[in-house]
Amino acid sequence: MSAWSIRVPLLPDESISSWLTRSAIAQGCDPLVLTGALWPKWRIWTTDPDRGIEPGRLRALARASGIPESEFLSASLRPVIEAAAGRPLVVRSSWPWLLALGSRNLKRQGGIQYCQACLAEDRTPYFRAQWRLTWHVCCSKHGLWLSDRCPFCGAPVEPHRLEAHDGSLATCATCKATLGRSCADMAQPVAAALQQAADSAVKVKHASYGDRLLPASDWFKLIRHFVVLIRRASAHPSSGLGRAMRLLSVDLNAVGAVSPGLPVELLSVAERALLMQGAWQVLNAGEHQLMQVARDTGLSTTAISGCDSAVPSTQGPLPSLAQSGRRQAKATRMAITKPRPKRSVQIAWAYLQRRFRSTLR
Ligand SMILES: [Zn+2]
Ligand SMILES: [Zn+2]
Repeated sequence: MSAWSIRVPLLPDESISSWLTRSAIAQGCDPLVLTGALWPKWRIWTTDPDRGIEPGRLRALARASGIPESEFLSASLRPVIEAAAGRPLVVRSSWPWLLALGSRNLKRQGGIQYCQACLAEDRTPYFRAQWRLTWHVCCSKHGLWLSDRCPFCGAPVEPHRLEAHDGSLATCATCKATLGRSCADMAQPVAAALQQAADSAVKVKHASYGDRLLPASDWFKLIRHFVVLIRRASAHPSSGLGRAMRLLSVDLNAVGAVSPGLPVELLSVAERALLMQGAWQVLNAGEHQLMQVARDTGLSTTAISGCDSAVPSTQGPLPSLAQSGRRQAKATRMAITKPRPKRSVQIAWAYLQRRFRSTLR
């Protein structure tokens, strides 16, 4: 493809998908047309462009856009997610700590967040790469909760489905309302505190737990472990674990409303905010108090601490949507022949609700 007539620079912390969409609109064409001309045999919008683009395709993009490959590599979320995960990431699998888009053909089920005030203030509205991170629930500039849906029609944010005449990325691709027009509530400071600590951890590659300095990936493992403990406790509030979490001031009633069984990467911003606030409280209680609470409630200190080498696996690989669809179909068949446990039904229902939210609109 020949060079584009208008050069569109990447803005600070702009996600690759945001830039691709803005570039298309600037050239006067739909995002799907621009990427189809650039990569005729690759349907980029069925993947997650914010993870980064592989070298051969990146060369074509750099040639057409006039932007060096290095800038796209810097805009990719791979280094951030690798720092949090502590391991190299495989392209064809879900990534921990990155919000899942839930792509089905060109439709998405979620995964893109935004700050309404940022979009309203931007001279050129664009989506920040950091809004794709699981631990980001509020805007570090405005202190508002992030939004993950259109406030007017409830659709997930799908800028790649915009058309050239829509003009701005602050437009809902479904109902065409302006996304920065309504006002989100102020976030709880505790949610911002964990977000700040997590951002610092991926930047400097380590983080504190009490007086210990942990490698960033161990710190994230600990946060995920606390999230799992909190969710287990909310499912069994009268258990020893439930009592322990309440002693640490975790609001189990609120957490009880979080969709059971869904990995944090699939949860809404409000649900993640509740879990992250709880995890921050457990983290800040410190190891000594956590051990004391475990002893007081008759729990195994090894299992609750999360600092042992045998940290319980907090989450298996994220199911791909195709997998979850197949599992769902299998689950439905099983349900006909055999009654299923209540919790299993709740988990299946949570997956269905997430899918319905994006299809029934
Ligand atoms: Zn903002
Ligand atoms: Zn809308």
